[in-house]
Amino acid sequence: MNRTHTNGELRRSDVGKSVTLAGWVAKRRNLGSICFIDLRDRYGITQIMFDESFDEAIKDIRNEYVLEVSGEVAPKDTPNPKLKTGEIEVRAKSFKILNSAKTTPMIIADKTDALEDLRLKYRYLDLRRRALYENLLVRDKVCTITRDYLHHHDFVEVETPILSKSTPEGARDYLVPSRLYKGKFYALPQSPQIYKQLLMIGGMDRYFQIARCFRDEDLRADRQPEFTQIDIEMSFAEEEDIFGIVEGLMQKIFKDIKDVDLEKSFVRLRYDDAMKYYGSDKPDLRFDMKLHDLNDIFKETTFSIFKDVLTDGGLINGLKAKGGAKFSRKDLEHMQEFIKIYKAKALSWLKYQNGELSGSILKFLSDQEKAALVEEFALDDGDIIFMIADEKSVADVALGALRVKLAKDLDMIGEDQYRFVWITDFPMFEYSKEEGTYVACHHPFTAPHKEDVDKLLNDKANCYSRAYDLVLNGYELLSGSVRIHDQDMQEKVFEALGLSKEEAKDKFGFFLEAFEYGAPPHLGVGIGLERLVMILCNTDNIKDVVAFPKTASATCLMSDAPNTVDEAQLKDLKIKVV
Ligand code: ASP
Repeated sequence: MNRTHTNGELRRSDVGKSVTLAGWVAKRRNLGSICFIDLRDRYGITQIMFDESFDEAIKDIRNEYVLEVSGEVAPKDTPNPKLKTGEIEVRAKSFKILNSAKTTPMIIADKTDALEDLRLKYRYLDLRRRALYENLLVRDKVCTITRDYLHHHDFVEVETPILSKSTPEGARDYLVPSRLYKGKFYALPQSPQIYKQLLMIGGMDRYFQIARCFRDEDLRADRQPEFTQIDIEMSFAEEEDIFGIVEGLMQKIFKDIKDVDLEKSFVRLRYDDAMKYYGSDKPDLRFDMKLHDLNDIFKETTFSIFKDVLTDGGLINGLKAKGGAKFSRKDLEHMQEFIKIYKAKALSWLKYQNGELSGSILKFLSDQEKAALVEEFALDDGDIIFMIADEKSVADVALGALRVKLAKDLDMIGEDQYRFVWITDFPMFEYSKEEGTYVACHHPFTAPHKEDVDKLLNDKANCYSRAYDLVLNGYELLSGSVRIHDQDMQEKVFEALGLSKEEAKDKFGFFLEAFEYGAPPHLGVGIGLERLVMILCNTDNIKDVVAFPKTASATCLMSDAPNTVDEAQLKDLKIKVV
């Protein structure tokens, strides 16, 4: 075509040039006999000036028409400092209408108040908005940097099958019926886990893939049924090797995209310590506020609520919020309700003002306990302490959640802070109430701690694994683990997970067999690409970083998927809908 420049390109130094631009009509303004049109494309907006000679020719042009305009670059009488091209305009000499457009169902502007459903139905119009385009640009940059960086470190990009066999990542599979084999199904990969491990057995040594994963689970605001992982696996390596690779990658991404220098090496925190000090396995370390185990202080307490909890082996957990004495009764009542979401029964608080504690539970505490609390938390005037006495897991998680809420309420989180932390030594198993049994905390290919091998079958609750997560500002960015590379060990873990020998053989026979032919020690990670891009784009809506996202109920409002299919297709597949 004839385009000589984009709509973001022309500057004062181009004045006098003859140019041809193309794009969409973003806005039209008639000023007496002349008409100004803002022409938009991916790169920006340029003002076009049509003089009175075009009066008739342009009378039908409306927003979102597609035009090609030729003319001369001229300086603008009143420059627009908001636009990169704000110092010039193009005086039209000729133009072509490349296409017309109906009135759009939503206004196409940087900020939109159109409802999300409408934006999803007309996603291609929403994509014309700069904000969305810029998010996709960040996503593209992350992928480019990742590819370059990993190639530089000898990783090879390999595609693994989409039509595959079930991979256990703890979600439901999406199934695809086989036409040739009646009653048989492929499963879409929940992750490339098995294939990437087979690549290690195949001698690939260092693999990566920007891999599409599918998980049919109940959706939340930050999930999509299909999503992308930067999937990495390496052989002859241990935790510190992969940590170094990932740290280098994050440093590069944050430098190139945000111009932020991350610390050389990220903090490491054992899972148990993360729970103990932050009440979460995804602690937000942008603020400190650690939890304190107060059992010792209250070991002789006569306050019956605390006493009963201690007798039952529970935990009295506390935290200090700096400057929190200013919270009103209403604020505190609101927090009482908040901790109930996390199944805690009650929240106690004590304010510290003018050198004295106050609060409804104060009368139940001895002088010694009060003094011990002031010392434990190094209280300053204007502080508040919160306490939850409950089962340990409840007291940890509820106070951990309150910790995050307090930091937000008290404005303790500065902008553009990026605090990474590796969480290591996860438990090997977790008890699933729904399934009434222990399930893998990460996935069943994760290696147990060397010293915990004996606990695999007899002491699951205390068996730890070599799984790790990377957490950024309270978000789980990545999971991974050292893998089992020994057939006996893999069989033992299947047994611990209640999989009979027959079931294990049926599901993973090919995988177990591969271990008989010399599997190297290996480990890996899967980085959530969308999560990473969300953080880089300062959004908490995953749809903002996906070109064609699904709704929270896994539908596509634009194409109407999922949908019914022809009777003939079902017949081919020998499927009957009942
Ligand atoms: N396959 C894992 C996951 O999707 C990541 C890994 O262990 O590499 O969570």
